[in-house]
Amino acid sequence: MALHVYKFGGTSVANSECIELVADKIVTAHNTGDDLVIVVSAMSGETNRLIQLATSLQQTPDPNNLDVLVSTGEQVTIALLCMALEQRGVSATSYTGAQIRIVTDDSHGKARIVDIETERMRNDLEQRKVIVVAGFQGVTESGRITTLGRGGSDTTAVALAAALNADECRIYTDVDGVYTTDPRVEPKARRLHRVTFEEMLEMASLGSKVLQIRSVEFAGKYDVPLRVLSTFKDGEGTLISKEDTAMEQALISGIAFNRDEAQLILTGVPDRPGIAAQILGPVADANIEVDMIVQNTAEDNTTDFSFTVHRNDCAKALDILQSICDTLGARQANSDDNIVKVSLVGVGMRSHAGIAARMFRDLARENINIRMISTSEIKISVVIDEKYLELAVRTLHQSFGLDSEPVQKSA
Ligand code: ADP
Ligand code: ASP
Ligand code: MG
Repeated sequence: MALHVYKFGGTSVANSECIELVADKIVTAHNTGDDLVIVVSAMSGETNRLIQLATSLQQTPDPNNLDVLVSTGEQVTIALLCMALEQRGVSATSYTGAQIRIVTDDSHGKARIVDIETERMRNDLEQRKVIVVAGFQGVTESGRITTLGRGGSDTTAVALAAALNADECRIYTDVDGVYTTDPRVEPKARRLHRVTFEEMLEMASLGSKVLQIRSVEFAGKYDVPLRVLSTFKDGEGTLISKEDTAMEQALISGIAFNRDEAQLILTGVPDRPGIAAQILGPVADANIEVDMIVQNTAEDNTTDFSFTVHRNDCAKALDILQSICDTLGARQANSDDNIVKVSLVGVGMRSHAGIAARMFRDLARENINIRMISTSEIKISVVIDEKYLELAVRTLHQSFGLDSEPVQKSA
C-alpha cells in the first residue's frame, strides 16, 4: 500500500465534467488500497479573474487583501471535488491551506512554506479518508492567509509529499509529461521519459512553466519522486528524479524560453571601477530582480551596459536608469520589451564542448541576431527579438535532434 500525493491543475478541474473525471480517477486509485492526498488548483482562468476584479477596484491592492481574495479560487475546487467523491461513496475531507496549517513566511504573493502539520492528515488517512487540500496557499504564524506565487499548487503538492514522506508526487495536467520544449510552440516536441531535478530546475527557471520552480527545488532537496502526467490520457508521464547511470545521456534535454523579460540598455557609460554597482545598486534597492547582465569592453573609455528584468518591472527600471544617467555621465537609457530568452538545457553539455558555437551557427543560418548570451554548466541562453521565437525554437529543436520520429506509414 502506497501513499501518493496527486495534484490537479486548473484545466483538470475547469468545470463539473472535469471534476467528475478527476473524482473517478481518485476513486479507482483509492480502491487499489492506496492512501491519497489530493491538491487542487482553482478552476482554469479563475485566479486571473480574481486578480482582474481586484485591480478594477484598486490599482495596486494591498498584498494581504489580494491573498485573501485569490486563495478563494482553490477553496471552491476542494469543496466541489469532495462533493463528487462523496457522491461516489468515498469519504473525503477538504482543507484550505490555513486549516491544514501549511505555515509560511509573510511574503504575501510569494510566500515560502516553513512548516506543515501532518498529524491531522495522518489521522484522516488512518480512517481511509481521501484528503483534499487547496493548493497555492498557506497561513502565517500570526494567522494571515498567504499565497505561494503563480503555479504554486505544484509546490503545495511537493511540500505535502515531502512532509508525509509520500511514495510519489504526481502532477496531473493538460500535457502527458515534460516535453523537449513547449508542445504549443513546437508540435514535434517529444515527451521525456525521465529528466533530472537539475535539468527540470533549469527548464522551469528558464521559462518552462509546466512546473513551478519552487516545486522542483523542493522535490530535489527532499528527494521526492515527482511525475508529470495527463489527467485526460493514460500513460506513464515523465519521472523527475536524481541523476543515475541508467538514464539516457542526451546531449540536450530540452529547449526553454521566456517571454516575460525586457532588456534595459545604458549606452556611453564611462568605463571606470564601480560603475556596475552604481547602475545596479538603485535597481536592487527598488526590489527589481536582474537576470542577464552584459557589459562590453571599452575602446574609447565608454561602454554599453545592458541587463534584463521581468517585463512588469521594465518601466520602473527605465525610470531609475534615466534618473542616474546624467550623474553617471552616460549617453542614453533605453528599454526594449520585444525580446525573448531561448535556452538549451542538458546535463550532457558538461562533457561536450562546442554546443554554444553550434547553437550560434544555427541561429545565424536563419539570420537571427543574438543580443545577449549567458552560459552555465548545463545551459546556454540567448536573448533574441521576440518575433524570432518560434523560428529559433524549431530550428534548434531540429538541429539538436529533438524532433519526434515521424509516424511510419505502413506499406
Ligand atoms: P496546470 O494548470 O495543470 O498547472 P500549466 O498550464 O501550469 O498547467 O502547465 C502545463 C502547460 O505547460 C502545458 O499546457 C504546456 O503548454 C506548458 N509547457 C511549457 N513548457 C513545457 C514542456 N517543456 N513540457 C510540457 N509542457 C510545457
Ligand atoms: N491558481 C493558481 C494560479 O493560477 C495556482 C496554481 O494553479 O497552481 O497560479
Ligand atoms: Mg501550473
